[in-house]
Amino acid sequence: MIIVLLGPPGAGKGTQAERMVQKYSLAYISTGDILRSAVKSGSPLGTKAREYMEKGQLVPDELVVNIVKERLLEPDCARGALLDGFPRSVSQAQALESVLSPLGKKIDRVIHIDVTEDELVARLTGRRVCRECGSSYHIKFNPPKVRNVCDHCGGELFQREDDSLNTVKERLAVYREQTEPLIQYYSRQGLLSTINGNDDIDEIFARIVEILEAL
Ligand code: ADP
Ligand code: AMP
Repeated sequence: MIIVLLGPPGAGKGTQAERMVQKYSLAYISTGDILRSAVKSGSPLGTKAREYMEKGQLVPDELVVNIVKERLLEPDCARGALLDGFPRSVSQAQALESVLSPLGKKIDRVIHIDVTEDELVARLTGRRVCRECGSSYHIKFNPPKVRNVCDHCGGELFQREDDSLNTVKERLAVYREQTEPLIQYYSRQGLLSTINGNDDIDEIFARIVEILEAL
């Protein structure tokens, strides 16, 4: 089963993905997480990706598509995978089809989490992420039990550099311009389920479970 989580930065994709992966034992592919760890390790990929990520722009397709292609060949993806943050443009969606087709796979469902712009800005600027396991928190909407400490692994929480107000605005503009066309693209293929992402975390997860159980 291949599931794609689609939505603007801050929609709650990572938050829901954490629960989905736990419940359905899907392999998790977050291009943002993979790119951030490449930047951290100073690998050639990270060095190339860094300048785009700092500005809130999309990393070029030739880098990102390859990451996903290699990741999908790993054994844990055999049962199914959850894609978060990829594809992010129509060209990436087409590249994904070319990667999946020789593997005898296709997208089963695209879950689009829709959130109003004011809410997205509030969510992103208050987001805190675990340095160790990548879990996502919010200082007001989803605080950890102990300030700045991850509930799951005890790791330290930090604020992503690209969650500053100016970069958030650029990322939202990039989403509207390059990623939003995917809503129509997948809707035409009959693959899209849209959820109101302004609701609370548990309600959204319940909706996602309904969608997945119906597959
Ligand atoms: P994305 O992966 O789509 O960029 P995240 O899952 O990291 O988004 O969520 C962005 C921020 O919003 C985080 O701080 C998270 O704790 C918070 N958040 C996620 N879902 C909700 C929700 N339904 N209501 C309020 N805050 C949420
Ligand atoms: P995310 O963690 O999904 O918010 O992604 C953080 C940043 O990584 C984005 O702002 C982009 O610079 C880069 N990125 C993540 N996924 C992609 C993708 N599919 N295509 C291009 N750039 C990406």
